[in-house]
Amino acid sequence: MSVQSSPAQATEAYDVIVVGAGFAGMYMLHRLRGLGFSARVYEQGGGVGGTWYWNRYPGARCDVESMQYSYSFSEELQQEWDWSERYAPQPEILQYANHVADRFDLRRDIQFDTRVERAMFDERTATWSVTIAGGKTVDARFVVLATGCLSNARKPDIKGLENFKGPVYHTGNWPHEPVDFTGLRVGLIGTGSSGIQSAPIIAGQARHLTVFQRTANFSIPARNGALTDEERNAFRKKYPEIRRFAREVARNGIYAEQPDRGALDDSEEERRAKFRARWDRGGLTFMYVYNNLGLERAANDTAADFVRGKIAEIVKDPETAKLLQPNSHPIGTKRICIDTDYFATFNRPNVSLVDIKADPIEEITANAVRVAGRDHEVDALVMATGFDAMTGSVAKIDIRGRGGRTLNRKWAEGPKTYLGLMSAGFPNLFIITGPGSPSVLSNMIVSIEQHVDWIADCLVHMREQGLATMEADTEAEEKWVAHVNEVASGTLYPQASSWYMGANIPGKPRIFMPYIGGVGVYRRICDDVAAKGYEGFVMGWAEVPQAAAS
Ligand code: NAP
Repeated sequence: MSVQSSPAQATEAYDVIVVGAGFAGMYMLHRLRGLGFSARVYEQGGGVGGTWYWNRYPGARCDVESMQYSYSFSEELQQEWDWSERYAPQPEILQYANHVADRFDLRRDIQFDTRVERAMFDERTATWSVTIAGGKTVDARFVVLATGCLSNARKPDIKGLENFKGPVYHTGNWPHEPVDFTGLRVGLIGTGSSGIQSAPIIAGQARHLTVFQRTANFSIPARNGALTDEERNAFRKKYPEIRRFAREVARNGIYAEQPDRGALDDSEEERRAKFRARWDRGGLTFMYVYNNLGLERAANDTAADFVRGKIAEIVKDPETAKLLQPNSHPIGTKRICIDTDYFATFNRPNVSLVDIKADPIEEITANAVRVAGRDHEVDALVMATGFDAMTGSVAKIDIRGRGGRTLNRKWAEGPKTYLGLMSAGFPNLFIITGPGSPSVLSNMIVSIEQHVDWIADCLVHMREQGLATMEADTEAEEKWVAHVNEVASGTLYPQASSWYMGANIPGKPRIFMPYIGGVGVYRRICDDVAAKGYEGFVMGWAEVPQAAAS
């Protein structure tokens, strides 16, 4: 038996339906086609690119260096594409996504502007019945959720927001037309990566920018700049080594020197010199100066103190500097931010900072944000308030597995998966970079490629073995969930109220969602599982005769 289309009575049928045409969905489609599977991708947006299609806010760029935040599956692609800057701006990443779609002729199997509303598993035929917006139903043997981890933008429920007369933007769902803040008073709510990237650009345009800060955040300078031909070529020459290292060695899928000692193994002077060198170089690898910054509070404090000191050096007004110094969580336990001139922005005469930790926003009126009885007048509002991360986009689809049980119900106490790839009771449903995998703790493209390749190999295995269904074994899943939690609890991460924990969504269960064991370790676990005949997964044979191949 082979993996093939559903019986002819179904209106339209594919081997695989992929939900989402971001970097995960595009590569999944490319692999499926290459292996001879029929596939259809449904994408809610009007184009490819996923997160880079929606997040068009001013200053949006990737915080992983472009030469590494790019596909590695095609040698020609990685040799021919010229990244212009160390950290590519959003329009260029979107251009790259479009280039990939054209180069590999992906668009003909992607249906844009199409939301997937529901997916129901028919146990009798081992087929998923997928309903798309408008009510059309399409069948598939397999469904792959490539819905992204940060794609469900969240506008908070702030009293009076509906009364605001000016425009309200969300960084995660930015208009496609240019937004001009010239001459306007802008209120920015949220100081995560999106707020920190957009504040300096908005401040450069607006008459006045008021930043409403609930939690001060750690941010490291990006030190962005144009890439020279020499730099690009040097990188390209080293690609085999860089990609191997990112996949197999680095914890976070990024090629960089690995720390060989703990922070307290060095004298204060040596430590400061190392932190200074990384601060001057810029970028995410600041947290990899030492090997215990994420593990031991005393070690972590040395890095946090260093950054707090830098903020005090940059920001001229001592009161503002104090407010901007993060004190509520260990450095790195909320996603560390990478910025260009964020802290210096507060030295501008047209920028003010309002602490909404001590005094939360009381109300939004027609033209102001009211805090502690004072109205901060604004003409436009920018919500940089984040996402219902990792599970939000999956939860928006009504997914029903064995016995009609919904995935939302199963995940009501927190997401449960085996390896982040499948959830017991939902056969033939794969998740790319799902909760329980390294995912958002890593260079996403490295993790996406690993998951896609693993799923592709798995589908070939099923075709060769004549298998109809595959699903996570409940016991293996329980053990994996326990392992994910155990590894997280050995670190400082759970000490922060972060979106990794679901803590940014009122009522969402607080569970550390990504797997923190490291990209290389995780890859070996997945490969080992596959080598042992997909240990921890239950395979089934078809109960009904199969139709002819599509
Ligand atoms: P985020 O990190 O979740 O930050 C949201 C911000 O909004 C936080 O400061 C949060 O405060 C605040 N907030 C939320 N609800 C609020 C409310 N009701 N009232 C006041 N403040 C509120 O979201 P994000 O900045 O969009 O970033 C999310 C993730 O996307 C990042 O961590 C990163 O992984 C990714 N990202 C990456 C890049 C990049 O590659 N450069 C850029 C942007 C985003 P609290 O902290 O107090 O909750």
